[in-house]
Amino acid sequence: MKAKKSLGQNFLIDDRVVDSIIEAGEISQDDNVLEIGPGRGFLTKELIQKSGRVLAIEKDESLAELCRKKLASGNLEVITGDVLETNWEEILSQRGFSGITRLSKVRGKTEQRKGVYSGINGMSSRGFDKEICQTRNSRYKLIANIPYYITGKILRLFLENSFQPQILVLMVQKEVAERICQKPGKLGILSLSVQYFGEPGIVEIVPREKFDPIPDVDSAVLKIVVKNENRLDLEAEKKFFRLIKKGFANPRKTLVNNLSAGLVLEKEAVEKVLEKIGFDGNARAQELGVEDWIKMIEYL
Ligand code: SAM
Repeated sequence: MKAKKSLGQNFLIDDRVVDSIIEAGEISQDDNVLEIGPGRGFLTKELIQKSGRVLAIEKDESLAELCRKKLASGNLEVITGDVLETNWEEILSQRGFSGITRLSKVRGKTEQRKGVYSGINGMSSRGFDKEICQTRNSRYKLIANIPYYITGKILRLFLENSFQPQILVLMVQKEVAERICQKPGKLGILSLSVQYFGEPGIVEIVPREKFDPIPDVDSAVLKIVVKNENRLDLEAEKKFFRLIKKGFANPRKTLVNNLSAGLVLEKEAVEKVLEKIGFDGNARAQELGVEDWIKMIEYL
């Protein structure tokens, strides 16, 4: 069966790398695993051995069928479909991969919350009510050698929603993994977004020769442990992402210039806010970590 370049089909061919992915996922028989793009089942066959249950989604009908036949196992379900066009909230809760919505207390009001918030080990930060309770229990890990052409979309889909996994271990392009794990001084919208939801780390760099066909890029196993300590109230969260977007509007400009233009504020007013959070007027967006942006939304 010829690999389809349009579907990012570069199949892993190294057993040791599979072991390293399994180890990074801290996978045990108690775990539910979601795999995106099982392909020929090279990683899947280990996942069904080491975990309790595997749900895999494969866009390529012939590969989905191949996995079903080749791996036939009581703890494997292969769905044919596009990961980006699937109702995960429903699919995961039907299979017990995530729990039911519970009552949450937000800003003193007890209310039923759906959408972005209903998936979180709820919590808030300064200036917001601390009593946002967990409303959905995540009971699965996302482990996959993903198609690189939709890396950003997959990260957004599984981090920003109500069905966050506990851990993500993903094979991604090396440069993307490095970008996600950057520290203040070199941060960008992607790294801040991921670091807001969890703690990313590179498990190992995987040379291109470990795939068939050999891709044009090297890869890395990226592990993200979902941590919602920074997680804000829904409104504050929207503000946080809006502010970051404006802060990075023109990477060559200072943060003061970007924010005063984006928020239509006097430069002096933005400077004062930056001073309050420990930066001067020459600071650039890439120097601020997640905590700094969170502090800033209290003032802007
Ligand atoms: N897991 C296999 C391995 O490690 O050898 C295959 C990995 S390959 C990089 C990516 C897989 O994702 C392919 O099997 C491809 O058909 C599948 N895929 C591509 N786009 C997809 C999508 N939108 N939804 C689900 N699967 C997709």
